[in-house]
Amino acid sequence: MVGMGLTSCQSTSSIHSPKEYYRNGISAKTARDTSDANHRSATPAVRSARVTRVVRATSPRFIPPAPPNFNTPKEAPRRSPPISGPVILAGEKLLAQRGNAKSYSVKIGGTEWVSLELWGKTQKGWYGRIQKGKEEFYRIVVSGMRLDLRPKRRLISCQGMQIWMGFGPEMIGGHLYIHHLDIQKHLVPLAAGMPDLGRVAVIDAGHGRDNKGTRSTFNREYEKEYTLDWARRLKPLLERKGWRVYLTRVEDKSMSLTDRVKFADRVNASIFISLHFNAAAASVSGLETYCIAPVGMPSHLTRGNPDPVKAMLPNNPWDEASFQLAARVHNQMLVNCRMPDRGVRRIRFMTVIKGQKRPAILVEGGYLSNPNEARKINTGAYRQRLAAGIAAAL
Ligand SMILES: [Zn+2]
Repeated sequence: MVGMGLTSCQSTSSIHSPKEYYRNGISAKTARDTSDANHRSATPAVRSARVTRVVRATSPRFIPPAPPNFNTPKEAPRRSPPISGPVILAGEKLLAQRGNAKSYSVKIGGTEWVSLELWGKTQKGWYGRIQKGKEEFYRIVVSGMRLDLRPKRRLISCQGMQIWMGFGPEMIGGHLYIHHLDIQKHLVPLAAGMPDLGRVAVIDAGHGRDNKGTRSTFNREYEKEYTLDWARRLKPLLERKGWRVYLTRVEDKSMSLTDRVKFADRVNASIFISLHFNAAAASVSGLETYCIAPVGMPSHLTRGNPDPVKAMLPNNPWDEASFQLAARVHNQMLVNCRMPDRGVRRIRFMTVIKGQKRPAILVEGGYLSNPNEARKINTGAYRQRLAAGIAAAL
């Protein structure tokens, strides 16, 4: 946990059911298959025929997302996205289009809003209105990834994984329009895949010495001990993949947040990842990944700090790359750890992130205030999975 107070958002439990879980996985594979090869979509009958096993979720709230169709870290970032075909999952129905959006963008009160449908065309994407049960939402498939969006809701899903945008989409003239900053800072980076992240990682074990962090409700152990163990487990995994890895601390020592930023400058880090565990009400659980809020976009979480949306912070030039890193790491953590998904979020107040001159993220590996998660976090096996999740993303 970082900063004072509790997390302000505690009502982000997933909207999907566990049953949907394996279907999403299967269908996502179908989406990749079709977009990579001949752009044809499998029929629902074909898709269900491919389902050969039922995967049981470890928690009723746990929905593992399908891996995003990012390019691998060693590839050059893609210049133009591949053509994407329709993805309709089991239980979903494609609704007729209400005509086509007429203008790519419209200005309302000086703010530019961009048609999701017409932006999708520039990305060789597929766009549709979908009904599931009584609910309607909009889906865009770009780079073989399905993104589901709803009017007025900042929370979107990418391959079933939660991402908090800056602004809720608006219905304008019967069509869904997205705030231009969300297009630029969320949807474009997702479609583009991964940037070149270099090969020098600073892994920051949160807290240390007198700054003990939050405390486990299971055994009263401090967060600082668990973050250090997580960092130590992660280092060799990344080194095996060719990364040069520096830990901000290798023992129980105190280190200020600005010194952690300076440390990353000194070793010329190409990425920075800060490791933490969280605390809130006992019922709150799951993984969260944070990166810098772009200029003009409100933070998802302020913990009582000011949120100067117009301020250009040192980390802002990297806010697309930080988000791409966050999305990938968050995804692989969910896949590896089978934990509830509390989403990729934007913040502005975290000192350890905002001063960085490189892609930087902060990962919260679960809630020490939640009895089940505190017990889990106390096991080496779980902390190893946390480490493996990050390593798999890089
Ligand atoms: Zn912390």
